[in-house]
Amino acid sequence: MLTYVLQASAVLKNVTGVQPVDTQEYPFDYKFRIKCIGCKRVHDNPVEMNRFDRFEVTGFRREANFLIKCRDCKRERYATLKRSKEKICEDEHQTPILRIITHGIELLEFIPDDQFECQSKLSNRVIQEIDLSNGEWYDFDDEGNGDVGIDAVKWELTLTR
Ligand SMILES: [Zn+2]
Repeated sequence: MLTYVLQASAVLKNVTGVQPVDTQEYPFDYKFRIKCIGCKRVHDNPVEMNRFDRFEVTGFRREANFLIKCRDCKRERYATLKRSKEKICEDEHQTPILRIITHGIELLEFIPDDQFECQSKLSNRVIQEIDLSNGEWYDFDDEGNGDVGIDAVKWELTLTR
């Protein structure tokens, strides 16, 4: 069992509260490149997992949010996800976003290609449908009459206890 914390930092322009759009209605698909610990295979395609899927792990009275059978060693690998309460509010401050407990897999890289949201400091408006896959986003807040943006987004996966 490995426990990872996914952390993020960014440089914020007139916005605060950057976070994944992650609700029961719109679950965020957390996408990772993974490696099987048993056979050391790095899976060709990244996998997606979310907090609301439920799978039963064979042979255990246990549920997971993600379950995969490794194509090479045929063993079941699984993970559970827990979103922290935190949002990215400060410039270049590492914020823990998600805790991922994995069984039989290593997480190599996070690929942020689902939607994010933030709040404009100019109008207090919540802005959704933000794409951070290129590590940056810029817009103009009409209500607040000014530029808003997120850039230099850095993601970090750290092993923890
Ligand atoms: Zn394997």
